[in-house]
Order: sequence, then C-alpha cells, then structure tokens
Amino acid sequence: MTRNEHWLSRSRKAVWHPCTQMKQHEATPLVPISRGSGSWLYDFDGHRYLDAVSSWWVNLFGHAHPAINAAIVDQLAKLEHVMLAGFTHQPVVELSERLSAIAPGGLGHCFYASDGASAVEIALKMSFHSWRNKGHAGKTNFVSVAHGYHGETAGALSVTDIPLFRDAYGPLLRRQATVPSPDARLAPEGVSPREHALAAANALDAYLAANYETTAALIVEPMVQGAAGMAMHDPAYLTRARELCTRYGVHLIADEIMTGFGRTGRMFASEHSAVAPDMLCLSKGITGGYLPLSVVLTHDDIYEAFYDDDLARGFLHSHSYTGNALACRAALAVLDLFRDNDVLEANRVSAAKLDELARPLAAHPKVENFRRLGMIWAFEVLIGHDGGRDDFARWFAAEALTRELLLRPIGRTVYWMPPYCLAEDEMEILASRTLEIVACA
Ligand SMILES: *Cc1c(COP(=O)(O)O)cnc(C)c1O
Repeated sequence: MTRNEHWLSRSRKAVWHPCTQMKQHEATPLVPISRGSGSWLYDFDGHRYLDAVSSWWVNLFGHAHPAINAAIVDQLAKLEHVMLAGFTHQPVVELSERLSAIAPGGLGHCFYASDGASAVEIALKMSFHSWRNKGHAGKTNFVSVAHGYHGETAGALSVTDIPLFRDAYGPLLRRQATVPSPDARLAPEGVSPREHALAAANALDAYLAANYETTAALIVEPMVQGAAGMAMHDPAYLTRARELCTRYGVHLIADEIMTGFGRTGRMFASEHSAVAPDMLCLSKGITGGYLPLSVVLTHDDIYEAFYDDDLARGFLHSHSYTGNALACRAALAVLDLFRDNDVLEANRVSAAKLDELARPLAAHPKVENFRRLGMIWAFEVLIGHDGGRDDFARWFAAEALTRELLLRPIGRTVYWMPPYCLAEDEMEILASRTLEIVACA
C-alpha cells in the first residue's frame, strides 16, 4: 500500500466529503494532499497537481505564502480568538476600517461570519429585519437571478437556483422567485450580450413593479454566476438592477463571495458597473484561502434601522467564531499584498499571456463560448465522450489529475480560476494539457 492509498482509504471510512456521492470513490480515488506551495499541491507519493481552481475559488496568492504565514504566526502569539459580543480586538477593527475604505460606496459597517452561506443568511435576515424595523413588515420575500448560487444552508438554498443542490430539500425551503439571467450565453442569435442583459433587466423591472411591496431584496452575483458554469454577463445588468432597486425600494445584495478581491479584474465586480450595493457579501479569497471568514458590509441607513433602546430591534444574529482574530489577521495580510503590489495590473499581464497560450484551445472545434473576465477563463466542450454531463465532468477531472492538473468542470463547462501567482511555465502546462484532454473528449 502506498502512502496515498493509506490516507485515502482511512479518509473514505472516517470523513464524509462535501459535494460528493461517496460511492463514486469506489471508482475514482480521493487525492490525499500532504503540502502546498505556490500554485502546486503535492500528494504523499511525490506527485504534484497545479491548483487551477484555487482550491474551490478561495486561494489568491498561492499556497504557503510567506507573508500570510508570517502574519498568522505573529497573531497566534498574541490572540487566537475572543468572542466578539462585548469584546473587540485590533485585527477586526483594522480589517473593518480597511474593507470599508476599499468597498464601493459608503459601506461603513462590517458584520462577520465564517463562511459564504452564513454571509448570505445574514444579508437576507438583515434586509428583512431592517425593513420591519422601519415599518415595512410586509417585505418578506426575496428575488434572485435564475441559475444563481448563494450557498447551501436552508436560507441560502432558498435563493439558489441549482436544481441538483436544491430540489432534494424542496419541502424544507421557502422557495423564492427568480428573474431571468443576463448570462451572455443565453442571448438569442443576433442579440448582443448588452442587449440580452438589458432584456433581463426589463424582466426584473416587470417583476419588481408587480411585487415590490412584498420584496425585501434582490440578490445577485455581479458579472459572473460561478456555479451556473462561470456564466458571464454585461455590466449593464447591475447598473440597471441598482436603478430599479432604488426606484422600487428594494435592497440590492451583491454576493461577491467568489468575485471579490480582484478575481474579475477589479477589486470588486460591482465596480465594473460603478454600483454600490446595499449589502456586500465577501468570503472565499478574503483570507487568501487560509481560514474561514466572511463578512457582510452595509451602509448607515440599514445600520441605523437597528440602533435603538429596544434589544429586540437589534440584529441579534451571531456565530461562535464571528470575527476570529487569526482569520482577520490573514485577511489583513491579503490587503497588505494588494496595497504594496499592483496586483490587478500584474494580473492583467498574466491574463494576456495565458490568453495567448490558450489560443489553440479557444480555436479547437470542440470548444464553444471561450471567455475570460479578469482571472477567470471558461468554455463549454462539445461532448463526444460517452455519458451525460456529470459523467463528462468526472471523466475530465480524472484525466486532468493524470496530467498534474486540478480541474473540476461544472457540467460541460471547463474553467480555470488559478492563483494570481501562476508563472509562465505553469500557464504553458495548464493550456497545453487542457487542450490534450479536450482533444480526446
Ligand atoms: C461559494 C459561494 C457561496 C457559498 O460560500 P460557502 O463558503 O461555500 O458557504 C455563496 N455565493 C457564491 C457566489 C459562492 O461562490
């Protein structure tokens, strides 16, 4: 038995893995990872894997980054954690001030949790409760965009439109309305992405005109709907959505859990539309992929709706690890990296290089809709390989592993979301080996 086999067999017995039909691990082995460095992960038998999906979209600057490591070690000697009700600490104060300073438009209040789904729960509850405190108790519904993804807890799942994740729990959920997606792939023949986005915004207009009295908030993934298959859309959608939300008195919640921290080429994807949401949800890249942390930023108007002598008018939501000091310190190290280096410009240079290397792939006859925004590339593969979309994704991922690539297609959408530190020789490996797999799909 190799060291890999040793760990994967113990893991299969003792660990229930996420987003997984465990029985499939009879045929497809788990990959036990012993260490990471830069863009690479290493298993116990000496193989390496290029982390081309940034470990489920969380990593920004590579694994075992010296500056983030040092910040966490320094914090560890001072304070690992203290409850945030009644207490505060330096990392959470500094992080809140710095996030507010860089976030779009006046979002001066930061409420923390540990994962993306919890941030979405917070935004939904905060929106409803603020309306109720202001005398609009009838705003009990939310509207979300078709094919959107906002996490897997019951509240987040009720605004998520991915049937595979949602339908099994249908009877438990208070299912919310959806409006058509601006996804540019769905534009009819002869309709530009911008026209398609504006048509989707018109549908939102019609929905809100009929339902604004009972609608607390619209929740959107600005620019890229990740779990829908890296579905990208024109920034005109969010610009219009902001206008409509303001006109109809509905909060705009920007779920930038995936798109935040430079992923789309701007610090926040909302900036492509020059829009300030009422609530901004951040997680994933916030700690550079090190520690669980999420935050909802909001403005004075919502904050003040809770500010009162009456305890029950306060926002009493909490999690045990809210504002964890180690996680906040990792996030500060990430913000330092953005402050001290022109990360977005460096990414533009990297992206242009990878675009160049990806030309043969983009031109391959089995590849459709080759697209990129910032540091996200995606395309659909015309499937020749046997079986359905799920089978294709598993087959592709397994082929990728044999070529030292960590890739995880969504249906027949293959995407790259590499760490920002991806070097040119690594880009070469990524582009040429992805092409090899596509060629035999
Ligand atoms: C990942 C993600 C979530 C959920 O975050 P978790 O930390 O996995 O709970 C929510 N919304 C978007 C857009 C995401 O990409």
